[in-house]
Amino acid sequence: MNYYVMTLFPEMIEDGMHTSIIGRAMAKGLLSLETVNIRDFSVRGDGRIDDYPYGGGAGMVMQAEPVYRAYEALTARIGYRPRLIYLTPQGRVFNQQMAKELAKEQDLIFLCGHYEGIDERVLDEIATDYVSIGDYVLTGGELPSMVMMDSIARMVPGVLSNQESGETESFSGNLLEYPQYSRPEVWHDTAVPPVLMSGHHGNVDRWRRDQSLYRTLRSRPDLLPGVELDKKDRKFLRALLEQGPEFGGYPITEQEQDFLRKLLAI
Ligand code: SAM
Repeated sequence: MNYYVMTLFPEMIEDGMHTSIIGRAMAKGLLSLETVNIRDFSVRGDGRIDDYPYGGGAGMVMQAEPVYRAYEALTARIGYRPRLIYLTPQGRVFNQQMAKELAKEQDLIFLCGHYEGIDERVLDEIATDYVSIGDYVLTGGELPSMVMMDSIARMVPGVLSNQESGETESFSGNLLEYPQYSRPEVWHDTAVPPVLMSGHHGNVDRWRRDQSLYRTLRSRPDLLPGVELDKKDRKFLRALLEQGPEFGGYPITEQEQDFLRKLLAI
């Protein structure tokens, strides 16, 4: 996977991307990163790339021509025009499914906006995807591009030392991940759930699945309708609803009970 980032702050991207798992994957040659400083393509004598918005209003706008020249120079070097993702709060909201899909590309260009954004005309010509990382506004596209590159990189074969850990994580199968524990067995008077110490893989798997279902119900019920529920999942969710005393460890609210009734069509 080759990443190209068009930005006004290349050092921010370089500093953020050469550490930890992503840095190691770059050193191994599984990922590459090239930053393009849009400022180098200024068409004015003073090196500036922003100007006032037509029609008035607050802030400055990044001009079309420097962005276009930076793009032309970059794609001439790459040899073709890969997908170009413009980071914008107005885009489709990024998620794990998108990360998976984008990880199939060989090259990806990220275009980071600043100020009030970028002249629409150049976006119309070069952007193939408009992506947001959430419903809030940041000062620039640099952090969103790094969020996306990090998440996409984890889907590239070989980047994670244990590929499985990418497959059982939150959002795989639309569920949040179960809780994790490590040594010591007792910490601050709280013991690790006994089932995890039992050595019984079937019971451990069931407990983890139940925990995932429960956590998803509590934190992200909007994901549950997209989960493929098998017989045992339904049995667990029904038991949650019926709240027998043996289910003391899983309190749920009345609202969650109503939600489960609808989900299970009871
Ligand atoms: N005026 C723009 C609007 O209201 O849609 C916001 C511009 S924002 C201050 C500057 C730049 O930050 C944007 O061009 C974009 O590249 C980036 N940005 C800000 N929030 C973002 C988000 N949630 N997701 C992706 N990019 C974002």
